[in-house]
Amino acid sequence: MHFLSPSIEDYIRDHSEEEPQLLRELTRETHLKVIQPRMITGHYQGRVLSMLAKIINPKYILEIGTYTGYSALCLAEGLQPAGELHTIDINEELNDMQRRYFDSSGLGKQIIQHTGNALDIIPHLETVFDLVFIDAEKTDYPNYYEAVLKKTRPGSVILSDNVLWSGKVVEPLNSKDRATKTLLEYNKNLQEDPRVETVLLPIRDGLTLSRVR
Ligand code: SAH
Ligand code: CA
Repeated sequence: MHFLSPSIEDYIRDHSEEEPQLLRELTRETHLKVIQPRMITGHYQGRVLSMLAKIINPKYILEIGTYTGYSALCLAEGLQPAGELHTIDINEELNDMQRRYFDSSGLGKQIIQHTGNALDIIPHLETVFDLVFIDAEKTDYPNYYEAVLKKTRPGSVILSDNVLWSGKVVEPLNSKDRATKTLLEYNKNLQEDPRVETVLLPIRDGLTLSRVR
């Protein structure tokens, strides 16, 4: 889905940081070996995540939805030297591939993988996160959000990905489409929730930044 014309998208990407070689290889291997490669964060959004993480410079990052590890590696670029990125995925088949790339990046020791349902795992994490990236099952976004909010502090930033859902949020709603229905409620709630300040950015498929008050 292109919200902008392909030529403007190309121009934007060509005037942003280059994609690191390791992430190019990860993208290639993901397309060759893993189902649903369109879920992977791409060059431009990856550089946005990297830049946000470097500006925030978090000690602790939480990611919900690792997939093959692309976004985790981008976010980890901004970690403090003694910081940690915790990333959760329900699909254990992806663990080995994630680990290979995490270790190749030189940040492997700072990246902690958790396997299972994020809703079971988050309550057991005894860490206050400075930055959270929500990118797993769309129908569970409100549940992830409530769970992670308990693990943040004033000033923490929560990023929510794919909130425009290929533009479906402004199209007539199909009553069977639970993902769109949930995202509509989620986006409305984030805007109204007095616990956070929120801006929705039109980056790729929509990326919301919420800052905890
Ligand atoms: N952040 C990745 C893409 C994530 S795709 C990137 O940008 O490259 C979504 C991932 O969420 C999938 O790998 C899927 O296995 C995982 N997922 C789905 N439901 C989940 C759940 N309940 N708990 C943890 N992970 C889940
Ligand atoms: Ca995503």
